[in-house]
Amino acid sequence: MSSSETDQQINETHRPNLRSWVESANDRTTDFPIQNLPYGVFQRSGEMPRGGVAIGDYILDLSAALREGLFSSALEPTARLASASTLNAFMASGLAQQSALRRRLSEILSADGRERTRVERLASELLIPIRDVEMKLPAAIGSFTDFLTSIYHTERGGRVTRPDSPIPPPFRHLPIAYNGRATSVRASGEPVRRPNGQWRASDGQVKFGPSEQQDFELEVGMFVGRGNALGQPISIEEAPEHIFGFCLLNDWSARDMQRWESALGPFLSKSLSTTISCWVVTAEALAPFHAPAFPRVAQDPKPLPYLFSASDQARGGLDINLNAYLLTPRMRNERTAPWLVSRTNFIHMYWTFAQMLTHHMSNGCNLMPGDLLGSGTTSGPQDENRACLSEITGRGAHAFALPNGEARIWLEDGDEVIFRARAERDGFVPIGFGEGRARLDAAPAWPMTKAS
Ligand code: CA
Repeated sequence: MSSSETDQQINETHRPNLRSWVESANDRTTDFPIQNLPYGVFQRSGEMPRGGVAIGDYILDLSAALREGLFSSALEPTARLASASTLNAFMASGLAQQSALRRRLSEILSADGRERTRVERLASELLIPIRDVEMKLPAAIGSFTDFLTSIYHTERGGRVTRPDSPIPPPFRHLPIAYNGRATSVRASGEPVRRPNGQWRASDGQVKFGPSEQQDFELEVGMFVGRGNALGQPISIEEAPEHIFGFCLLNDWSARDMQRWESALGPFLSKSLSTTISCWVVTAEALAPFHAPAFPRVAQDPKPLPYLFSASDQARGGLDINLNAYLLTPRMRNERTAPWLVSRTNFIHMYWTFAQMLTHHMSNGCNLMPGDLLGSGTTSGPQDENRACLSEITGRGAHAFALPNGEARIWLEDGDEVIFRARAERDGFVPIGFGEGRARLDAAPAWPMTKAS
């Protein structure tokens, strides 16, 4: 297949005048208009987890839609995969099937659909209010890889540790990454425990205990669709066929532990937990929001041929506005709104997801459907684009003030970090990601050792 056949194209499911008979989906502020149709796994009390599609304030229950016979025999197997308790098999089903299902879902939910009268009569069967369910992880995540693709984030950190050469030499040649921990990836809403760990304090003492420099990192996560066989790399032209969709990702980071342990890359400072938003916005839904890859300055090396394709350079970037908010216990008690601490955009990333994926598979390493790739902290050039506390506070050098008079350098117990994101472009209906949020709870007491 040529790249023009495999790239996600704008089609009738993106039409800005498309409206849904689900009224809340037509509100300009919703994250889930009919142009989005993200997939997720939900659970209603007393029932099994299963797959659905967000539409306005509701979930379209795919199991109910299957029972009502809303899919053709050609589409039914794909809809069944998307209704499962994990979406791995659906993610593996390929862009052609996924795109066909999206067109059908758009038809089912459209205000102008030919079957509107029949389908709307089934609304009480098909629709479940989002507020009535618990969202689960969308996939059984076999592996999690975290990248470092913002040159601004890298530069701000490197100015302190490597003032002569803040950007490590490989950064402009390859998307830097490390193998993260998949078992501790958790769904939005589940609290995270501050980790116990080891670090060297400013007085030179090596300590063990609750981390004193707990940070967040605002990232975008990407779910792998089709995988590759061990030993078989893919070309960058093929990469879009392997990209299923995107979520928000908080790569919780214990900075004191990270600085001390990272001779071989981060380990316990990152594996404590990773929070992701639960709705997967498909690559196809984001077709109107593709953007050129990062504009490299003349002195920068051109990507090597295995990381370079004209179509990826032209539209491999993503124009997504990303926001991080902080909600302290006092703000929660006083019922004040979460405070915006970071506002950035994914166009600031130096590498595209197609480049990350192609590089990841280039040594023959096999990726599987449902594997998760993190973009790295999504910081941009401006101060307001700093997407973690370490950048905002100059690695803990100065506090910042919250509107209620509180101050923070690092996260305190009970603080909640909330991510939101929207893709917006003139001529298209904006789409959002829902929330990725979690509260940081106190470190667990260290287990007592039995007296010998
Ligand atoms: Ca990270």
